[in-house]
Amino acid sequence: MLLQGKVAAVTGGTRGIGYAIVKRFLEEGAKVALFGSRQETVDQAIAKLKEEGFTENVIGLCPSLTDADAVKEALDKTVAEFGKLDILVNNAGVSARESIYDYKVEDFEKTVDLNLNSVFICCQAAARIMKQQGGGNIINTSSMVSIYGQPSGSAYPASKFAVNGLTKSLARELGKDNIRVNAVAPGVTRTDMVAVLPESVIKPLIATIPLGRVGEPEDVANAFVFLASDMASYVTGEILSVDGAARS
Ligand code: NAD
Repeated sequence: MLLQGKVAAVTGGTRGIGYAIVKRFLEEGAKVALFGSRQETVDQAIAKLKEEGFTENVIGLCPSLTDADAVKEALDKTVAEFGKLDILVNNAGVSARESIYDYKVEDFEKTVDLNLNSVFICCQAAARIMKQQGGGNIINTSSMVSIYGQPSGSAYPASKFAVNGLTKSLARELGKDNIRVNAVAPGVTRTDMVAVLPESVIKPLIATIPLGRVGEPEDVANAFVFLASDMASYVTGEILSVDGAARS
């Protein structure tokens, strides 16, 4: 029960890595506000959690993460429901594959809007609450491509490099307010996105991973549990790779 008594908000909590984080946080005793992009998928995720035995301590909300007022309202609702906000997990994100030669500026901006700007907006709203409370803990979802880039969809690695920069900078800025800020950088992880890839793509991919397999959402979620817990009380400004030592 590493998170007993803690209250967390998790963006992109409806599926994949985010859903695994919500589940592990509940297992460790936290109360969780699960954020998703649509009411329908939020309701489905809450129903699935109930089926898995998590019948209480979780609420679902769907603020637009690029709208500062909507984010503030959702975090205020979380505090109204559970009494405080100890942990913010910025996990919602979209990938990108466009070639530089026909990349539309608006598509580049869309990716940066969710993967970076919304992280700033959520951090700001949460930090205001956490400062008043006397402390808190923010964990962002980066990616292994934040270390070495990727050969297409440059908005994705660019946004994740920026998430690392935001993480390290906010760790320095918010330390005085007892707010820790870290990121987890997953490698290839078995979410919907990866599950649909054919064997011909997966096999050569696995060959580049020293641990010989792709990550499971739970592998990644466990790193969030550690960083969210008091076990990591002196860890801040860290980008924690969870990638089986995969390198480009
Ligand atoms: P996923 O596509 O399974 O889930 C993405 C989540 O983000 C969903 O809950 C979705 O509701 C939410 N989301 C998407 N667009 C949104 C929007 N406009 N507004 C609000 N929420 C929105 O993805 P995943 O693989 O679980 O990825 C989660 C995070 O992990 C992302 O930040 C991703 O960049 C990162 N990541 C994933 C991998 C991987 O291999 N799966 C690797 C490295 C990093």
